[in-house]
Amino acid sequence: MLPKRLLVLLSGLLLSLSVFAQVPYGPIKPAPAGEILSNLKKLNVLGTVLYVAAHPDDENTLFLAYMAKGRLVRTGYMALTRGDGGQNLIGAEQGENIGVIRTQELLAARRVDGPDQFFSRAYDFGFSKSTNEAVRTWGQDKVLADVVWIIRKYQPDVIITRFPPDARAGHGHHSASGYLAEEAFKISNDPTKFPEQLAYVKPWQAKRILWNVFIPGAFMSNKKPDEAGNLIGIETGLYNPLLGKSYGEIASESRSQHKSQGFGVAPNRNARIDYLLLKGGDPVEKDPFDGVDVSWKRVKNSDAVQAQVTQLISSFKPDQPSASVPTLVQLYSALGKLDTTNNYVNVKRQEVQTLIQQCLGLWFETNPTDFAATPGETIKVSTNVVNREEFPVKLVGVHYSTGKDTTLNLPLKPNEVVQYPTSLTIPKTHTISQPYWLEKPIDKGLFQVDNQPLIGLPENPPAVAASYTVEISGQRFVYTRPVVYKSTDPVDGEIYRPFIIQPDVTANLTERVFTFSDNTPKTADLVLKAGRANVSGTLTLAAPTGWKVEPASVPFSLTYKGDEQRVTFTLAPTAQAKDGKLQATMTTSNGTFTTGLRQIAYKHIPTQTLFPPAEAKLVKLDIKVTAKNIGYIVGAGDEVPAALQQMGCKVTILGPSELNGNLSGYDAIVAGVRAYNTNPWLARYQPKLLDFVKNGGNLIVQYVTPGSSFLRNDPALPQLGPYPFSIGAERVTEEDAKMTFINPQHPLLNYPNKITDADFNGWIQERGIYFAKEWDKAYEPIFSANDQNEAPKLGSLLYATYGKGHFMYTGLVFFRELPAGVPGAYRLFANMISAASSPAASVSGSQRN
Ligand SMILES: [Zn+2]
Repeated sequence: MLPKRLLVLLSGLLLSLSVFAQVPYGPIKPAPAGEILSNLKKLNVLGTVLYVAAHPDDENTLFLAYMAKGRLVRTGYMALTRGDGGQNLIGAEQGENIGVIRTQELLAARRVDGPDQFFSRAYDFGFSKSTNEAVRTWGQDKVLADVVWIIRKYQPDVIITRFPPDARAGHGHHSASGYLAEEAFKISNDPTKFPEQLAYVKPWQAKRILWNVFIPGAFMSNKKPDEAGNLIGIETGLYNPLLGKSYGEIASESRSQHKSQGFGVAPNRNARIDYLLLKGGDPVEKDPFDGVDVSWKRVKNSDAVQAQVTQLISSFKPDQPSASVPTLVQLYSALGKLDTTNNYVNVKRQEVQTLIQQCLGLWFETNPTDFAATPGETIKVSTNVVNREEFPVKLVGVHYSTGKDTTLNLPLKPNEVVQYPTSLTIPKTHTISQPYWLEKPIDKGLFQVDNQPLIGLPENPPAVAASYTVEISGQRFVYTRPVVYKSTDPVDGEIYRPFIIQPDVTANLTERVFTFSDNTPKTADLVLKAGRANVSGTLTLAAPTGWKVEPASVPFSLTYKGDEQRVTFTLAPTAQAKDGKLQATMTTSNGTFTTGLRQIAYKHIPTQTLFPPAEAKLVKLDIKVTAKNIGYIVGAGDEVPAALQQMGCKVTILGPSELNGNLSGYDAIVAGVRAYNTNPWLARYQPKLLDFVKNGGNLIVQYVTPGSSFLRNDPALPQLGPYPFSIGAERVTEEDAKMTFINPQHPLLNYPNKITDADFNGWIQERGIYFAKEWDKAYEPIFSANDQNEAPKLGSLLYATYGKGHFMYTGLVFFRELPAGVPGAYRLFANMISAASSPAASVSGSQRN
């Protein structure tokens, strides 16, 4: 056992780690000599900058890389949102699930360019055109409180915004991020503002706030009255010989982590100036840190420390970093005698501790034999430690956050891996590893998080952490890292994955929404999965009154961890049924379980596991569908095919080989969102698809983004439809915007379902995006709609006849509304796919060949 005093210290460290610092991913690793020297130089820099914007990918990665790795100041990026409203180029996740991906992409970017990452509780509810709308939807006070919280916690000298607080920012979230940062700058030092935070942090006044102006030329001609100051320019496109890269190269590598947004970029190796404009605080002449002393003079009685650091830098031996260790250990002790109420003393002490580990080439990791365990379960883990240098290091012991301690007192021989197997019992009271911001339902524009220390953290503190105590030159150091699962893939090699705590049993319904157009029963499936061995109990399916669920409860028994049991049941509405939720509950001798299991696995981020509620929506649709056979060309991943199946259609996914075949059997062919952007081969089949239309078929193209280079350059695809039309960036973001029917008699609005205003109730996030901009007169626009204070837009749904058939282009966001179970979206989409059988279709529109 470790001495009690040390234990207290350890748990204190763990707490402070989880509250105030970010926990790196993977093992504790050595660093190359250039990076070590850079870190030594950083010991002499006592300055902090906080960059604020709205989304993952807003941040200027060049500026961040330059600040973190060039100027060597503590650098943080606060993204107000997790990017939940973004479109997903690599999969079908939407909403909070794409937010989870983009959170991890930001962390991957920070592992490249260096800064710390923070968020607020704001939910990215989709494109917003004004600061007011954004701030109103989020709830101004809560998000402002979060920016103040991060300022007080991180104590920046300088705050930099990416966006101005007005319409020049382009997107309401962007202008809101500028506005909230400027407001927070003004009040963070006022103890009467958000006093509840003062239990954890102190008021803080940053010296100034600056806007990182993006297009200086355009800005100079569009200045606001209060922007009298001059732009200052700083050279950020420099080369760092210690890292062998320019900040432009680091920036592009970082930006390319935003893969779900398709933001891979080539590096800019040119010189480059970044421009800043004072928005508040002390005047500035040429540098954001003007008048900020970033030396050890900020800490009382630190002359000796400063001298020691300078000596460490000048005597560093790149081929023998361990020669610096004795002085680093002395420095660590000396720092402990300084005023620890000064945040920099603690920050630098932590940096020195990391440097000692890097100079020795120390490697630590603890790996369990599985990536998940349940509360109360005992797991096997292996702790691995290596000392890479001829320098005496003793592994004193390891403390695991499950409460277990091991005393080893083992001298670490150079280059000999010490493997220590042990078992850990997860406490019965351990929480499940659901991301903390998703534990409660989203309150319109805000994640509900009550635990103040969690606010701002990019992800959960580790489920289980290991703290390694080592003795070096007579001094003890504790290094803490998450326990992390690793496996070996024959193609990708070693893969790390977060270790998580999961429930005893989860239930996944095979559909998110069950729709019924009459009272005919539907069979539905649910898959139970065991989180541990030998779990048995009763599954109950609860539905609102008026719905029949059979069987309503089923006993289950799962023998092995990971075992699955499929339960088939039938669902049917009665005349009294109202829309509602179908909820699964599993009752075992261990308690009650009500969640499903969702894994988000992509190669560029650590695999994420979520535990959403085990429920599905029940929707009674007043709907007729005459189309039966639908061909679907999958775009950037969407759940429309499942919705078509719910409507009773047979759906065939069309790839190149299917498109080579006979298409005449399809009542309609539907192209998924961005199908023409993501499938370059699709252009080759355009003549065939248009022939399909000409011969009486029905082709529906969901939105395409106009920016794709092959769309612009591909001679095989001069246009998407039978007649010319162009696609712009126009959108209607207010999900309740009035939809005016241009020609209420149009067959699309009447057959087989009579579309009324009520069909546009309950839409989520937005009406539509990437509307058609200009079109040949052969097309009929079906709707007119606009956001408040904007001109009407007609391009949300275009319809034309061509030969004997029908063509439609739509920017309406069916890909969001159908999976969300919005009845009106089903009815309108049913009319679109049924157009070929409409009795009125042949007399509508201009007939051209
Ligand atoms: Zn943005």
